Amino acid sequence: MSLPAYQNGPDPSVVCPPCGLCCNYVSVGIDPPSSVERVSTTLWLLYHPDVSVYQSHEDEWFLLVRSRCRNLAPTGLCGVYENRPFICRDYEVDGCEGTSDIPAEKVKFDDAKSFLTFVSKWKPRLYGRCLAAGIVPPAFMAAT
Ligand code: SF4
Ligand code: SF4
Repeated sequence: MSLPAYQNGPDPSVVCPPCGLCCNYVSVGIDPPSSVERVSTTLWLLYHPDVSVYQSHEDEWFLLVRSRCRNLAPTGLCGVYENRPFICRDYEVDGCEGTSDIPAEKVKFDDAKSFLTFVSKWKPRLYGRCLAAGIVPPAFMAAT
């Protein structure tokens, strides 16, 4: 009888509900959009489909790209559980997006317009400098 691939570690089916939510994107830290230059870079990111930008509850900013991990099995379990990357091992099940009602992010933007509307309220003077610098296309301007 063959043993399951996770024989040397916990059974993933009892570690967490195998919803697979945390295996369907990658995210990397980015500079906060606190200058015209950085707002411009954030806009460039958000002009691409399947890319989002979010601020964590710890006020750190991240780029998020929706992409399903090739190791995620149809069962919702990890196909390389025993040898999964450290970042997967470190992910906390407590309070994760699959087990908590609290949104995983403080704020999240899937498009340029919603991001610019946020900037116009969050930092009105910065938004004004972005307008003056010519990086805000008319179609994406925040409503005033
Ligand atoms: S989001 Fe949470 S419950 Fe869902 S697979 Fe990831 S760790 Fe498990
Ligand atoms: S390696 Fe496994 S745990 Fe990590 S993202 Fe892929 S399926 Fe999920």
